[in-house]
Amino acid sequence: MTIRASSTKGIEGAPQASLYGSVARQFDKAADLMGLDDSIRNTLSMTSNEIIVHFPVRMDDGHIEMFTGYRVQHNDVLGPYKGGLRYHPQVSIDEVRALATWMTWKGAITDIPFGGAKGGIQFDPANYSQREVERITRRFTFALGNNIGPEYDIPAPDVNTNAQIMAWVLDTYVSTMPPHERQACTHVVTGKPVELGGSLGRDKATGQGVVFNILEWAKDNDFSLNGATYIVQGFGNVGSWTSRLLRRFGAKLLAVEDVTGAIVNPDGIEPGELVSHVAGAGGVRGFDTAEPISREDFLAIKADIFIPAALENQITAETAPRLNVRLVAEGANGPTDPDGDVLLKERDIDLIPDILCNSGGVIVSYYEWLQNKRSEFWELDEVDKKLSRRISSAYAKVREAAASHDTDWRTAAYIVALTRLEKVYNERGLFP
Ligand code: GLU
Repeated sequence: MTIRASSTKGIEGAPQASLYGSVARQFDKAADLMGLDDSIRNTLSMTSNEIIVHFPVRMDDGHIEMFTGYRVQHNDVLGPYKGGLRYHPQVSIDEVRALATWMTWKGAITDIPFGGAKGGIQFDPANYSQREVERITRRFTFALGNNIGPEYDIPAPDVNTNAQIMAWVLDTYVSTMPPHERQACTHVVTGKPVELGGSLGRDKATGQGVVFNILEWAKDNDFSLNGATYIVQGFGNVGSWTSRLLRRFGAKLLAVEDVTGAIVNPDGIEPGELVSHVAGAGGVRGFDTAEPISREDFLAIKADIFIPAALENQITAETAPRLNVRLVAEGANGPTDPDGDVLLKERDIDLIPDILCNSGGVIVSYYEWLQNKRSEFWELDEVDKKLSRRISSAYAKVREAAASHDTDWRTAAYIVALTRLEKVYNERGLFP
């Protein structure tokens, strides 16, 4: 891969390792092992388009603030660009490049007809009113203009964005279209509210996909989820849904960490009650049937499963030695850095890698997109069944690649994705 691991400045000004550099290391390892064709390797090692927009927004008190937004389109050989929009102070071109590239692998591994993209705005929505977040979203959508589109590049929710934000993106995009094209544009975003053409099951889809993956792992390892223990980092959409759905199998949530702190209860935390607490308090801190613990102690808790469902680079050379679990199921994108990967392998901790583990979100986004195109509404049961089948099949392919190449699961997941992309490139050839 031609990208070099440069260093970017984090929000606190501390240098952080380049996330795109991590993607390069993961990619190189898999490409070497499978003997990926050199020209395809070069093509996939770069993003196609990188759009950076600076735009003004009027705040509630009348003053105008400038914002920076990104949309990176990595590859569209399998279909339209697809991927979420993230609102976070840490959003940077380096991060969005990495996230967009992972979306390409995710589409390829799950056999859906989408390429990879990602975008976001560098700001913390918690510091702005709802009306301000709406205006920021609308101005960003307007600034992107035709760089997104229902058959071209389709955003979805990600960190700190949700169905309401997708509704504003949709409304803004549609309002800039000629009247006779407006009705044909509802699939410009997925993860919309159901009333606006969203899919049943999309809200919980990423967590549901994590749980379907864990069920596959449990089957393979003769492991019973009833009475099993798990800890979760991040209690947003992915962490909270995964927790609620795992609870239904009799598993016990021991501890949760988020930006506000970490909490533990050896007798188990009720995910539903924690969801209500977080809705009011803005985080897990202060939940009354658990004790506060330090972040260090959180990571060292003995449990069967650790589900990182927050941000990147959480499992590293520094933190991986502390983990006391059998399985890491990556709900987040990029929670383990390449050094963390080496340590997980050395310590015999199983891994369901992000591009497989959290693919439920984009899979159900594909179902939403299909329903919009066909003017259909599917029952929840149908969405869940289709999701379950698709995850089982992707999981089986990764397991098989791990065995046949005698490698770790992340590399195996890359090999499955790159094999599909290589085939398509070989069939299509290169213009001109
Ligand atoms: N943001 C989610 C992800 O990282 C979903 C993307 C989508 O549905 O397009 O996979």
